[in-house]
Amino acid sequence: MNEKTMTMDNVLADLIRISQVTGSDPDLVQGGGGNTSVKTADGVYMYIKASGTSLKDMSAQKGWRRLRVDKVLAVVRDDSLEALDVAEREAQVVGRLLGACDDDRPGGVRPSIEAHLHALLGQTYVVHLHPRVISAYVNARDGRAVLEKLFADEHDPILWVDYEDPGFLCGRKMAQVVEHYHATHHRDPSIIFLEKHGLFTASDNADDILRLVRYVVDRCEGHLPTFEPSREISPCPGEIDQVTEAIAAALRGVTGQSYLICYSCPATIRALMERSDAPDLLDTGSLAPQEVTYANGPALWIEEATAAAIENKMRARMGKGYKHALAFVVKDVGLFTAGSERTVATAQATAEMSIFARMCAAAFGGVNSLTTEQEDFVIRFEAPADPGAVKG
Ligand SMILES: [Zn+2]
Repeated sequence: MNEKTMTMDNVLADLIRISQVTGSDPDLVQGGGGNTSVKTADGVYMYIKASGTSLKDMSAQKGWRRLRVDKVLAVVRDDSLEALDVAEREAQVVGRLLGACDDDRPGGVRPSIEAHLHALLGQTYVVHLHPRVISAYVNARDGRAVLEKLFADEHDPILWVDYEDPGFLCGRKMAQVVEHYHATHHRDPSIIFLEKHGLFTASDNADDILRLVRYVVDRCEGHLPTFEPSREISPCPGEIDQVTEAIAAALRGVTGQSYLICYSCPATIRALMERSDAPDLLDTGSLAPQEVTYANGPALWIEEATAAAIENKMRARMGKGYKHALAFVVKDVGLFTAGSERTVATAQATAEMSIFARMCAAAFGGVNSLTTEQEDFVIRFEAPADPGAVKG
């Protein structure tokens, strides 16, 4: 169909299709979330994923909002916001994004907090994801150089965006670099890597955007080192239960709350446990805001799996300003992840993804994680108070 003749319904149908296709691909949605948008042919409106519904669950009835593009751009371009106190500013940004909504959806459903990043790109279709293969590069010290070499033959050069705090400042930074790119190349970038964050792709065609996402992810994946553990792990009978008990007791000691604890030991974890640099790879800040939000930071490396030793290690990390750990790699046993029934699977997936990305980053110059200031910003302005505890 000629895009000029697309009706609002066609635009929404396209958004639902690209969201369901990307959201159903486990390679693309690792790391939680991501968001999608489609602009109308006249550029006046943008349909975007709403917060609180996953990509694959979007439908005509839920999971999206329609925004006025000019109102969204006005937020990023409002210099007066820069002078505000951070809490006041971020509250205003959320309020103004809600105010930019122009549809018949329930008023309290928020559009993606990354709506302004979508609005900054002129293309009709924008897909933003945090896949683990991308994390391997955007969290590596040499990630930018490796990506620029890997995609050196692209007709439109890739764009790299240095890390900035989520929300308004990230929007400002992206506006600046997209503007510079536009001035240099006379078009908007179609492949954008955000340091310590993820990937943006943009296109004027719905099928092309899906192909582009797959192309970037496959190309990135093809260049990654592989990790083959040399042996299986077979903990002694009762050992997994014992460690689970010790971790539960340590968490109770630190938080006063009970947690559901899950055990896993996939090849990635077994490969980590065989590395002599395993403790160092985990001894950094979170890789990205998602790791702060869903897993309270990286897994703790545990060699002595008693409740007292684990509690001490947790308190030592908390003493440096971090939240209490929710993931634990217990040497020669495996990964233990804590949470509620609702959150534990996400915490586990986040921890496994982070460990994979950390091992890859070691091959690309070392792990490039959030600084304590950057992490602190996420804790204060983004993360829920406690993503993990079992209610009651
Ligand atoms: Zn994001």
